[in-house]
Amino acid sequence: MSRIVAKFGGTSVANLEKIEHAADKVAKEAGAGHEIAVVVSAMAGVTNQLVDYCRGISPVHDAREYDAVVSSGEQVTAGLMAIALQKRGIQARSWMGWQVPLLCDDVHGKARIEDIRTDEFEKRLRTGEVAVLAGFQGISTCNRIATLGRGGSDTTAVALAAAVGADRCDIYTDVDGVYTTDPRIVPQARKIPRISYEEMLELASLGAKVLQTRSVEMAMKHKVNLQVLSTFAEEVGSDLPGTIVMDEDKIMEKEVVNGIAYSRDEAKITLRSVADIPGVASKVFTPLAKANVNVDMIVQNVSQDDGATDMTFTVPRGDLNAAVDVLKKECTDTVHEIVTNTDVAKVSIVGIGMRSHAGVAQNMFQALADKGVNIQVISTSEIKISVLIAEEYLELAVRSLHRAFGLDDPQKA
Ligand code: ADP
Ligand code: ASP
Ligand code: MG
Repeated sequence: MSRIVAKFGGTSVANLEKIEHAADKVAKEAGAGHEIAVVVSAMAGVTNQLVDYCRGISPVHDAREYDAVVSSGEQVTAGLMAIALQKRGIQARSWMGWQVPLLCDDVHGKARIEDIRTDEFEKRLRTGEVAVLAGFQGISTCNRIATLGRGGSDTTAVALAAAVGADRCDIYTDVDGVYTTDPRIVPQARKIPRISYEEMLELASLGAKVLQTRSVEMAMKHKVNLQVLSTFAEEVGSDLPGTIVMDEDKIMEKEVVNGIAYSRDEAKITLRSVADIPGVASKVFTPLAKANVNVDMIVQNVSQDDGATDMTFTVPRGDLNAAVDVLKKECTDTVHEIVTNTDVAKVSIVGIGMRSHAGVAQNMFQALADKGVNIQVISTSEIKISVLIAEEYLELAVRSLHRAFGLDDPQKA
């Protein structure tokens, strides 16, 4: 008997028929004697609709009220899933984040989980009752409902799996695993049977939305056995049909490039002619950090004769206005001219084999050059290389890199 956390994403619970189908999977696992906690997302499209409602009343709104609104989608599916399980003769109940409780910080809209108190929750799991937890939500230090950022039900599931010492956390979604790139863009993309936490973390943080970044961070930290699998295939999680995210040392074949991620959620800011003297970068980036703006790629050009230089960096597109506001208000003596561009996208190649292989960057740049794609900014880490390009070339770049690194090759499947 295992203890399993099974998470169903929005497309897996998109309507009553799909909720019933997901309930069949849970029933099968419960019938095999496993202890099951289910985590559900809102029905597909519902969270977007709720976000639009908030914006429709006021583009700038109280994040605590935003959370009160957008967390409601998960409440509906948790109740419906519990009813579907009860219909199958399974003892089940729904739990909201505050009932567990799942305690978060008070950064509303993108709160972090700080603790999960599972005493009562686990007691009931042990009686064989299936717990159905509303994903994406917790309770903040100021006693208000908080949400964990878009895609946050993945993080609810992994955090819960860590808290209750689950043997496995199954993430049921609309693809049957983690692919070499988004199969919606490259139909030849292949399923990766096993992937390291490190690679998955890079892919997620670089835009592969199949798992929320924080969920992978948490899985890595707590060594949660994580599986990504299809809701719509025949198998259940215990058949292990999906992609297993696991420790690097347990993976024999270390691919040079294992996956390609992309993100359209990028904006480029160039500060023209800032002084090339110590302390300037700190003066620019400290107020941005305080305003919770996440700065990503950064380049500073060589100083021209006048001792001034251009500084370019990227921020999430949604944070662009806030970033420009902060720079205008708080950097008056440092920043004189700001140029912004939202017509950009980031493409990244990821693989742990990069640690021990030279020439990977060269292959990447050549493949892009062959297609006439201009690179605007480059950033690297030990296991990834990212480039910023014009958004119109994004799909072409992803497809070309997928081919250039042999990922189209069915032999590798
Ligand atoms: P859910 O609603 O189940 O949480 P998401 O839409 O958040 O599902 O994530 C699944 C989607 O992630 C897939 O439909 C796919 O388009 C996208 N995706 C992006 N990159 C990848 C990848 N490398 N492998 C698999 N899916 C990916
Ligand atoms: N429903 C939330 C969202 O759409 C959380 C999730 O699905 O993971 O972002
Ligand atoms: Mg998701």
